[in-house]
Amino acid sequence: MSRSVLVTGGNRGIGLAAARRLAARGDRVAVTYRAGEPPEGLFGVRCDVTDAEQVGAAVSEVEREQGPVEIMVHSAGMTRDRLLFSMPEEDFRAPLETNLIGAYRLTRLVLRGMLRRRWGRLVFVSSVVALRGEAGQANYAASKAALIGFARSVAREVGTKGITANVVTPGPVDTDMLAVLSEERRTELARTPVGRLGRPEEVAAAIAFLTGEDAGFVTGVVLPVDGGAGMGA
Ligand code: NDP
Repeated sequence: MSRSVLVTGGNRGIGLAAARRLAARGDRVAVTYRAGEPPEGLFGVRCDVTDAEQVGAAVSEVEREQGPVEIMVHSAGMTRDRLLFSMPEEDFRAPLETNLIGAYRLTRLVLRGMLRRRWGRLVFVSSVVALRGEAGQANYAASKAALIGFARSVAREVGTKGITANVVTPGPVDTDMLAVLSEERRTELARTPVGRLGRPEEVAAAIAFLTGEDAGFVTGVVLPVDGGAGMGA
């Protein structure tokens, strides 16, 4: 069955890999983008998830184009790394706005259609850092940990309505987010039990499972895709 999908942050990195994977299985996939052009072959809606008005307009546009959103993947995310002692409040808030409150804005809107149809799949892209913490990422880790509590609460609220809410916690994945780091830091991150960084497509595979027709009894799950980096956390 072809489902109507919205992937935030679907223009790059993990979001794009997920969007392409779901499109390849026959879903109708829209992605958000903030600047430039959307990726070829995918329906793009301009949307900054920190802006409630833009989120509302984007969801309406997607619904007009391909019908009510049945699968929502929130991959839009950002870091603003700083050690806590030198982190101004503005820098603490920024990742919360995108990673967590962005998810809240999107979820409320797409849930309406899912509740009407009594079918839906929500997937939130968190991080291994949510559970392990990371020096310089108190803001990011807090936003990603909160996303787990958020998803599990939603899972409990709408579970009987055919809607699931799950979380993936990627470890270090080779995308633009890591490209800004020093070579030394990347090498350090690549020392996962699997011995390398992850690929966006590997996270996309987990998202494909969680959003699939067969995953109706899988909800509130926190699924690591991290090469073992989070083992024990
Ligand atoms: P990228 O930096 O490649 O992509 C980030 C994506 O988020 C882009 O599509 C970007 O859009 C979008 N985005 C950021 N801020 C906003 C916003 N305010 N509104 C709309 N879109 C926004 O990173 P990844 O693909 O690696 O990251 C995807 C998700 O995976 C993030 O949530 C990240 O935290 C998480 N993650 C990544 C890991 C990694 O190692 N790469 C590890 C664990 C989790 P634009 O092009 O407009 O900037």
